[in-house]
Amino acid sequence: MIAELISVGTELLLGNILNTNAQYLSRELAELGITVQRQSTIGDNPARLAEWVQSAKSRCDILIFTGGLGPTADDLTKETVAACYGDTLQFDPEEWAKITGFFARTGRAATPNNRKQAMVPVNGRKIPNSCGTAPGVWFEQNGKIAVLMPGVPHEMKTMWSKTVRPWLMQHSNCTLVSTTLHILGGESAIENAVGPLLEAENPTAAIYCKTGECEIRITARAATVEEGEEMCRTSAAKFYEILGDAIYDENVPSLEHTLVQLLNEKQLTLATAESCTGGLIAQRITAVPGASAVFGYGFVTYWEAAKAKLVGVDPAVIAQYNVVSAPVVAQMALGARAAADADLAVAVTGIAGPTGGDEQRPVGTVYLAAADRSNAYVMHINISRNNREVVRQRAAGYALEMVWRLAKGLPLNGCTALSAAQAAEPAALQALAEACAVPVAARRF
Ligand code: ATP
Ligand code: MG
Repeated sequence: MIAELISVGTELLLGNILNTNAQYLSRELAELGITVQRQSTIGDNPARLAEWVQSAKSRCDILIFTGGLGPTADDLTKETVAACYGDTLQFDPEEWAKITGFFARTGRAATPNNRKQAMVPVNGRKIPNSCGTAPGVWFEQNGKIAVLMPGVPHEMKTMWSKTVRPWLMQHSNCTLVSTTLHILGGESAIENAVGPLLEAENPTAAIYCKTGECEIRITARAATVEEGEEMCRTSAAKFYEILGDAIYDENVPSLEHTLVQLLNEKQLTLATAESCTGGLIAQRITAVPGASAVFGYGFVTYWEAAKAKLVGVDPAVIAQYNVVSAPVVAQMALGARAAADADLAVAVTGIAGPTGGDEQRPVGTVYLAAADRSNAYVMHINISRNNREVVRQRAAGYALEMVWRLAKGLPLNGCTALSAAQAAEPAALQALAEACAVPVAARRF
């Protein structure tokens, strides 16, 4: 099916408001496998609107309108489109009762011009509006559809998801099934790797980016749920082939949810020692319901003295290697694990900026360590962004990822191991510092 979006409203043309409705609907329609061929914006002018609707109607199967359903004189979308689809409007007492009831509940009286909103199509269907007064409208003529929804974004979104989307599904005699893959890595790298798979038509696959990770949403249109699920599995398998264990889970709220569940399954406990992230890792873990089963201690060791006092970092090691260094982060992780008597620990120290960087340790320099009872695995990275929040968030994300990999038994690429038994040995610390001298690219696939 081919669709066009028509946004109605002079205020859009004047630049007074941003057309967020078009963005939302384009994304939704793509997911339904409906091709949006064009988006256009028309002012509140019936003649120009009618002309545009006639030509758009000849180009595509479905026209979706937002805006201009209100009670004021400039709200003319309904009348104009009705005429283009060979329909007329009639007064609907039931809608009128809803409108007057709505006004009564808010202590106001409906004005005569509100009657306009109670006008519904004679042949077409009215679409209920559960959050406002104006019903939407669905016109149909010779297999061509026009859907009119309010301009107010939350009214439009509710109407879309409650009614229009299901009707469109019914109309095309199919159901939709989707699966979301959660992937560690940046959007451009992932898009580069899986590019052609994102062009598939059914199932469709769309990529959405968050800090340090992405989601790929696979949506299949099928006759039955079982068939749709099968199609999603087949498509997902192609992504797994390319992205491998960079895909950390499916259909979950976040990496920390996956991590807490994994720790629960494996009956492992975790402790944290955080410097530049100041508790962000602990915050993300404890945001997951049930985290208390696996997480008991989070040390925020911001001062050097705190690193020594709470997690047993040797002040001489700080003096020799700098507080932002591989030996220090290794001792933080091993020390936090021991202090909390946890199975695993993760630690981070770095320079979040905007100040504090120098040539040897520019802003974005971060050392991370994940430890179990035998070893600490240390990684030196550079989050090359001079943005304190981005550095902190990404560092926390990498830390969660390292623990997830360690708990899962996956290789910790780019890390150097230090055995717990050698954590105080100068030669071992020296070797670790040398092995981690240069930042690694924290590649996932
Ligand atoms: P109302 O009953 O409020 O008049 P309506 O259906 O007639 O609703 P409009 O008058 O076109 O819709 O728009 C109402 C408000 O909704 C606008 O002032 C604007 O804030 C918002 N709006 C309209 N169109 C869009 C759009 N395309 N994207 C984002 N917001 C929009
Ligand atoms: Mg209006």
